[in-house]
Amino acid sequence: MQGGSRGDIIDPFGRRISYVRLSVTDRCNFRCVYCMPDDIEFMPRQSMLSFEEIGRLCVVLAQMGIEKIRLTGGEPTVRQGIVELVEQADRARAHGLRDLAMTTNGWNLRKMAGPLRDAGLDRVNVSLDTLDRCRFKELTRRDQLDEVLAGIEAVVAMGWLPLKLNVVVCQGLNDLEVVHYVEHFSHLPVTIRFIEYMPFGQSRFGLVPWDVTRRRLEERFELVPVAGPPGAGPATNFKVVGSAVEVGTIGAMSRQFCDSCNRVRITTDGRLKTCLAYEPEMLSLRDLLRSGCSDDELEIAIRLAIRRKPERHLSTEDGSNPFEGSMVSIGG
Ligand code: SAM
Ligand code: SF4
Repeated sequence: MQGGSRGDIIDPFGRRISYVRLSVTDRCNFRCVYCMPDDIEFMPRQSMLSFEEIGRLCVVLAQMGIEKIRLTGGEPTVRQGIVELVEQADRARAHGLRDLAMTTNGWNLRKMAGPLRDAGLDRVNVSLDTLDRCRFKELTRRDQLDEVLAGIEAVVAMGWLPLKLNVVVCQGLNDLEVVHYVEHFSHLPVTIRFIEYMPFGQSRFGLVPWDVTRRRLEERFELVPVAGPPGAGPATNFKVVGSAVEVGTIGAMSRQFCDSCNRVRITTDGRLKTCLAYEPEMLSLRDLLRSGCSDDELEIAIRLAIRRKPERHLSTEDGSNPFEGSMVSIGG
């Protein structure tokens, strides 16, 4: 089924919105230095969308042509009852949802991968920013590298593919590890995506443009471009000759992909964030849901809010105009 039964969402710049990144918690069991500010204040639990609210929202969104929902956070697997939450979101499949995914730091994957898949999750992306134990501890402020690697192995062993590994490349931190990533995972059919660091308020790192990462890889490997499926998103993929892995890039800063943006975000407390650019007022879907609104009213409010989606973000590679807030609270 293509398109929503309530009619697709088209923003003022002609972009069809088909992808929602839904934050299910602002909590996390890691403390990544580039993501989690030191002074973060977690929201009270009653402020978070409930499972029922999430389920209803996902159904209405699917009816409006949303084909892909990614559960994120914070760390989605630390939300108590996450398996049940996935079951609620999975109700949207009967209304046109085609892809229910999750981005996770992988700590809980070894034991949770099976139940999450059984609950309806199509796939996971695992974030892993270094393969060096000391650096991992420094970066995440947790000593869990082995557990994350075991989680990745568990997902592959289950044949739960495709599996993408996300690496945020930060200057002077992990930028020289990119070749090692390909060598380390060369026996696994995974896609390693090198993501440009995006400067937020407490910006601490320099970003490494994708071209630089690509040159580093090409000095060691032969890369062959792979055509992605239509609507596959901002990554550009390459097969690494002689290896099971593919590498990809998300050049969010050096190659802004705002022109083809198809996504909006929903924060843990149910605010609709239409762009990473500054938005003075975000629609509270939670307040609407709790006011006893009908599905039609919900739909109208969402459409009106998306009419205010900015054309592009104005953040720059040099970090001089950082994004507001932090990924952990926006829902990365
Ligand atoms: N906890 C989960 C995880 O780490 O995968 C999901 C939430 S995390 C905010 C989602 C993604 O945002 C991760 O891949 C993380 O590396 C990325 N991220 C966080 N801060 C970022 C930044 N400043 N620039 C680019 N990516 C960032
Ligand atoms: Fe947590 Fe993910 Fe942010 Fe790391 S990147 S602090 S794992 S939310």
